[in-house]
Amino acid sequence: MKSLIVITGASSGFGAAMAKLFNANDYPLLLLGRRVEKIEALNLTGDVMIKKADVTDQVQLGSAIKAAEAKYGPTDLLINNAGLMLLGNVWQQSPTEWQTMLDTNVMGVLNGMQLVLPQMTERHHGTIINISSIAGYKAFQNHAAYVASKFGVHGLSETVRQEVADKQVRVMLVAPGAAETELLTHVTDDHALTEYEAWKETMGGLTLDPKHVAETVKFMYEMPQEVNIREVDIAATRQDS
Ligand code: NDP
Repeated sequence: MKSLIVITGASSGFGAAMAKLFNANDYPLLLLGRRVEKIEALNLTGDVMIKKADVTDQVQLGSAIKAAEAKYGPTDLLINNAGLMLLGNVWQQSPTEWQTMLDTNVMGVLNGMQLVLPQMTERHHGTIINISSIAGYKAFQNHAAYVASKFGVHGLSETVRQEVADKQVRVMLVAPGAAETELLTHVTDDHALTEYEAWKETMGGLTLDPKHVAETVKFMYEMPQEVNIREVDIAATRQDS
């Protein structure tokens, strides 16, 4: 019997690709997002629970996880994937956009980790995989608050990895490069968006397919519990930065 996997941000992009792959491999799933209709439209069958949850709301996130654990048992893998990228230079971008990114990308990850770690450390079993970005260790123009949030994810992941290592709990991090998802659809700054698209064109417009990120995450999780693939950096071969 396979154990419960929780995926935040399962309504599109990497999250939807991971949901499909783990579902095809018969893992019980809790799929989370604000647009539940998009998760339902994936038409997954079997042991799948879908709940509306905003990762910035720890109470909402916690009650969704509690409901799934009552049905499927303790969460063995939490994938903190939900995230948001809003572009713009620091002297023009709205502080509201900075706050939204920091709340979603940093607080959302901390919220999820705090909810599952008590049972994982008690069981001496469990894995957390945080989806960061190449922007988690490298700066890009027009990305200041996004870069700050993803550097944060790198830092907090390594901190918690050290904190729970002696409890046999794994914390892993995946740093993807540019991929074809809905990530850019929220950008409000047209100039920053045009510059991003022009950068993508320098790579022939080719970016990473989310299914390859999903396969990587599955490989990392399915390694024996005593092996921790701490960090994976994955990008399209054509990405030169
Ligand atoms: P998408 O925009 O396609 O997916 C983002 C997901 O996050 C959606 O399912 C969305 O669901 C969810 N989400 C956003 N805000 C919240 C919130 N407050 N509460 C709950 N869910 C939320 O983008 P990606 O698939 O690309 O992004 C997934 C992760 O990958 C992010 O962390 C992103 O930073 C990272 N990443 C993406 C890269 C890329 O080029 N695409 C490159 C490197 C990293 P809903 O709106 O339904 O709530």
